[in-house]
Amino acid sequence: MKRSNLKKTLGVVGGGQLGKMIGISASKLGIKSCFFDPDKNAPSKDVSNTFYNYEYDNKAKLLEFAKKCDYITYEFENIPINSLKILEKKNNLFPNINTLRISQDRHLEKSFIKGLGIKTANYTTISNSLDVENFLKKNTGLGIIKTRKLGYDGKGQLKINLKSFKKKNIIPNKYIIEQFIPFKKEISVIAIRQKNGKVKTFEPTENYHKTGILRYTKFPSSVSNLCIARAKKIAMEIIRKLNIIGILAVEMFVMENEEILVNEIAPRPHNSGHWTLDGCNISQFDALVRTIFRLPIPKIIYKKKCRMINLLGENFNDYKKALNKKNHHIYIYGKNKIKKFRKMGHINIVD
Ligand code: AMP
Repeated sequence: MKRSNLKKTLGVVGGGQLGKMIGISASKLGIKSCFFDPDKNAPSKDVSNTFYNYEYDNKAKLLEFAKKCDYITYEFENIPINSLKILEKKNNLFPNINTLRISQDRHLEKSFIKGLGIKTANYTTISNSLDVENFLKKNTGLGIIKTRKLGYDGKGQLKINLKSFKKKNIIPNKYIIEQFIPFKKEISVIAIRQKNGKVKTFEPTENYHKTGILRYTKFPSSVSNLCIARAKKIAMEIIRKLNIIGILAVEMFVMENEEILVNEIAPRPHNSGHWTLDGCNISQFDALVRTIFRLPIPKIIYKKKCRMINLLGENFNDYKKALNKKNHHIYIYGKNKIKKFRKMGHINIVD
């Protein structure tokens, strides 16, 4: 490693658990981290060298933060694009702003992916009840209405069918409707693209969601080698086409006939990649930090098996049972309040 990197600072916009784990990876390489988050109780505060606790529209503080950081990344999608524009200088912000703009909006995201010739669920933007009815009639009668922006962990989603659908006032341009997909499995791939343009991926993991929230992830996945190859190829194609320097999570549906549909992308570390903290020689967080600081990324080596269990508000206390287990690695995010469905931590079980 270049000695100069030891004195550098990584800025992270957003101070949630993903930021916290990015900060820990940076610190392993002697890189300082500086966070920007309006929440005074943000989990990253525990690992930050400097913590900017201001609103995202505080231009003066954003500029001060940018001055302090050699490079800047973001750890969640719902950051105002204008704030990033204020932070952006030449070659300091990774991944690029356009990627964030696309991934913030389900319509832009899906049309971009479709434009690459990669399959997604059929969908359309909706402006009124008639649009919903017409879409359902054309698409198996079962669909999910999703907010275009600001939805996460199943929030802002409504599963509907032609019978349950009641005519409602729909705010134009706020939602899309997607065909409900009877998938066989859900998987995700974390892709990495370095500054020299080299692309690689972690192996896909298999994911289990309940009420739209990831509960459990396992490596290796049980999908066929053909699906694994297809999934990796898709993730590599998307990260290249977005011209990302950093990492990209791609969530996918695997169909009965082995076809793959992309559900969602996230240009940041992802919950379904937390297993890499203990399942591999290098984690998704390490990969992001190394990419940003132009440090080498070794060949990824895998332990035999790794499962990741999310600790949500309702099963948070399960970590106590894991404390005494030799193959359980516990991560508690340090959030100030335990709430149902809130991600409080996770456990990686390595076999
Ligand atoms: P999302 O917020 O779009 O990632 O959705 C959260 C979870 O809801 C997904 O991981 C799936 O389990 C489920 N889901 C989302 N969209 C669809 C769909 N079109 N068909 C079936 N299940 C879906």
